[in-house]
Amino acid sequence: MRKFRYILAFMALCLVVGPAVAQEVFKNDELTITKLEANMWVVETFDNTCMYIIEGDKKSMLIDTGTRAAKLDEVVKKITAKPLEVVLTHAHPDHAGNIHFFPEIWLHAADTVLLQKTYKGKVRFMHDGQIFDLGGTKIEVVHGPAHTPGSVMLIDRDNGNCYSGDAVGSGQVWLQLKPSSPMKTYIETCKKLEKLMDNGISKVYCGHYPHVKGALDKSYVTAMRLLAEEIDNGTAQGAEPFPTRIPGLGGDNPMIVRKGQVAIVYDPAFIK
Ligand SMILES: [Zn+2]
Repeated sequence: MRKFRYILAFMALCLVVGPAVAQEVFKNDELTITKLEANMWVVETFDNTCMYIIEGDKKSMLIDTGTRAAKLDEVVKKITAKPLEVVLTHAHPDHAGNIHFFPEIWLHAADTVLLQKTYKGKVRFMHDGQIFDLGGTKIEVVHGPAHTPGSVMLIDRDNGNCYSGDAVGSGQVWLQLKPSSPMKTYIETCKKLEKLMDNGISKVYCGHYPHVKGALDKSYVTAMRLLAEEIDNGTAQGAEPFPTRIPGLGGDNPMIVRKGQVAIVYDPAFIK
């Protein structure tokens, strides 16, 4: 009977406290790791990019490798000791910065031109529709080009999650970088994700999580698509010059348009 009272008291406490909240589990000068879900962690870098770790029953996945992070392989092992698949959402240096710590990486072939030439490990190419079976958790590759030609979104249907890299954006999406894509390509990528979100995907974990501190929802993706359509058809209001240039990648005269919670950076010379 006493045991039963303890159980009741525990249940009452759970009702008050609610479900487990995000919990910081590791921190050093460069990285902060926070557990977001039962088998998923976000790894934030000092300069606001991020990676995600997903642990299955048999294997784990590291999504992206961040900018600068000493001994990233050893840090990841503190979270999961299972065999690791290292998958890049795209090959920009803030997402592929530490690949040299890993003997093998997965990449969409269309981003090969962006990958650092000094990588000595094995590059394996993944394709739209490919499934990584981690044991109990399956992760599906969905090609989502525009930010880069080989950008992918990684879909965990069982948990309703999409890991989008920079394919959709983290507050703003950069479409000005070379090799650039037509605005229509970005619109198609947004539509693809909206369709997934009509079919069980509810949370989009983006490539610069520190800016948003949570998952994006469908209204965000739709707002991006509507703004892209306005840029494409010439009705977007309030475009301003965008000051940041990325050496070797930037368009000549990038512009930014903001609308509500979203913004798109683009090169007017390469909309079509
Ligand atoms: Zn990027």
